[in-house]
Amino acid sequence: MTKRAPIFLTKLRLVAPNLLFISWLLNCGAVVADTVGLEIQYPTAWQGRWIQGGLLVGVAPEGHKVLYRGTALPLTSGGQFIVGLSRNATQTAEIVYVKPDNTRYPQSFHVDNRNYETQIINGVPQDKVMPPQSALERIASDSNAVKEARKKITEHEWFVDGFIRPLNGPITGVYGSQRIYNGIPKQPHYGVDYAAPKGTRVRAPAGGIVTLAHQDMYFSGGTIIVDHGHGLSSTFLHLSEILVKPGIYVYRGMEIAEVGATGRATGPHLDWRMNWRDVRIDPLLVLEALPFTKE
Ligand SMILES: [Zn+2]
Repeated sequence: MTKRAPIFLTKLRLVAPNLLFISWLLNCGAVVADTVGLEIQYPTAWQGRWIQGGLLVGVAPEGHKVLYRGTALPLTSGGQFIVGLSRNATQTAEIVYVKPDNTRYPQSFHVDNRNYETQIINGVPQDKVMPPQSALERIASDSNAVKEARKKITEHEWFVDGFIRPLNGPITGVYGSQRIYNGIPKQPHYGVDYAAPKGTRVRAPAGGIVTLAHQDMYFSGGTIIVDHGHGLSSTFLHLSEILVKPGIYVYRGMEIAEVGATGRATGPHLDWRMNWRDVRIDPLLVLEALPFTKE
């Protein structure tokens, strides 16, 4: 079960409404006229926040399609759709609702900026910071396997039932931080790091299908990817043991792996990442948007 967010009313200003449109509005009983034009009260329920790295869960009005950046989003049986915002998402996002007669209703949203911290990490094996020529082929093949595992956008809707954290442990790394390894600035960190002893069991945060289970990738070591549906996926890094195989269904809370320090890591911890399609989003904001609440 999911908690419904309060209903917010967003306004769409019309400059040149046509007659069909006006009659539709009158049927909805939601017209507010002023001297300049018409204003529709367009109700939309959102879970999650419009903030960089955030995940939004919306509900499409009955019979409408939903477009984001020109792509039609899949809808759950309850009419829900999801949108993820990148680390550096621009200040304005737009959702377009499309009626069966193809009338389009664009809605704009302000996206809040975040400040990301810089994290200095020393003592990483130097070949994991500046990989030797001989490792480049392996790194490219790892990266292709990961891309492939996240490519398919499935109609599964396990994400709707909510997320739990994959283990209990102090958070030692956050989404978006600029990372400096052995003095060399690298890609931002996109996961949430939980410190935990080697061998601590990692649980699936929500239901899904395992799309990748790799014993030893160059940077991420033991790695699992789970598809929660609609392009929303979890990735688990630096694992010492992998308890699942690609293609199997995992339920929320199921033990899928053990914490390790494989790949580019200085000590045992779990790095949990989340993607919406190829957009990296903040797992903590997913927990906030879609918390699992016991019935
Ligand atoms: Zn990490």
